[in-house]
Amino acid sequence: MSKSGHQIAILPGDGIGLEVTAEAEKVLRTVAEHCGDQFNLKHGLVGGVAMDATGKALPEATLALCRASDAVLLGAVGSPKYDDPRAAVRPEQALLGLRKELRLFANLRPVRLHPSLAEASPLRTELVRDIDLIIVRELTGGIYFGAPRLEGSERAVDTMVYTRAEVQRITHVAFRIAGGRQRTLRGRPVPAKVTSVDKANVLACSRLWRLTVEAVAEEYPDVELEHLLVDAATMHLIKRPADFDVILTSNMFGDILSDETSVLAGSMGLLPSASMAKGRFGLYEPIHGSAPDIAGRGIANPLAAILSAAMLLRHSLGMEAEAQAVEAAVAAVLDAGHRTADIAAPDQPAVTTARMGDLVVEAFTQDTTQMRCR
Ligand code: NAD
Repeated sequence: MSKSGHQIAILPGDGIGLEVTAEAEKVLRTVAEHCGDQFNLKHGLVGGVAMDATGKALPEATLALCRASDAVLLGAVGSPKYDDPRAAVRPEQALLGLRKELRLFANLRPVRLHPSLAEASPLRTELVRDIDLIIVRELTGGIYFGAPRLEGSERAVDTMVYTRAEVQRITHVAFRIAGGRQRTLRGRPVPAKVTSVDKANVLACSRLWRLTVEAVAEEYPDVELEHLLVDAATMHLIKRPADFDVILTSNMFGDILSDETSVLAGSMGLLPSASMAKGRFGLYEPIHGSAPDIAGRGIANPLAAILSAAMLLRHSLGMEAEAQAVEAAVAAVLDAGHRTADIAAPDQPAVTTARMGDLVVEAFTQDTTQMRCR
């Protein structure tokens, strides 16, 4: 019997976006079936395919669909057909449009290393095997939303502004996540910690950031707070990545640190992300792009998209048990040795995108017979 109805907008986008969201959708349908929930999955156009159909990367109809939904699952945008840097309309503009129009101010990127994939990391196994961190990046303020000015060919100006309210809002997100994570290290619970990353020795915005973070932290006595300057943070992420829990940072620093951190886990095809608005609404997407080099061949890794769907269950639908069950199913499939081409050893046969999706559905179904749904 149906318990509730959730509206979910699916925006597959371009290239492998189409292939990986199809697998995430399979998993969402299985979760709904298992838990007696009703998910209304509606598709919208975004990126190059939307430009082909409407001339716009983010058509009004897509925006309306997102606004009428509880959450959005996006594949990827970007197509070689629209790669001309002089073009006025580009598929990637849809991403900034979605962030702005849907007020997605908090970007969450969890990075966890599956033990059997430690070899794929560029760092030594003993450094990376316990990585389990999440980057909380402010997404709609700071220097990327300043007033850029190119003054002829000799001078250029960018401006960076942060308000106390913007910093407070993102800091609460980071502390709430840290407080609710219950992280363990080799089976033992680890105290919750937020590492706030800034450049307070140079930037006024960072000094406001630091003072505001410290004030908000007082409301969360169970979560430890540490500050790092961004230059030191880049180094510590390489030297001791497993020591981090929640990393809280501004728009530009978060952009850079999240790419640095994503390579630690080995493959682009495994990392999900969420961009949250106030309340529970969020947009969920794999961190990778449309991968035109492998698109249409059925070999893309759908696990980042499937793990993005798990984040959607957790953050937008409040379905923590179901989210954990999907994550456990992905771990079980990897434990059993199944690999898509991007993570397979050179001599190992790889499974297709669709087969990987089916394997996760099978593992979910087998493991959740005793699971209590929300
Ligand atoms: P990309 O992430 O698409 O691909 C980088 C490399 O990783 C490629 O070799 C690709 O084959 C591989 N790869 C990526 N995802 C994979 C997966 N799930 N399984 C297996 N292999 C995978 O980055 P790119 O090549 O720099 O960009 C391609 C297009 O995507 C560009 O148009 C770019 O602007 C766009 N892009 C979009 C987003 C987004 O939609 N959020 C993010 C990044 C790039």
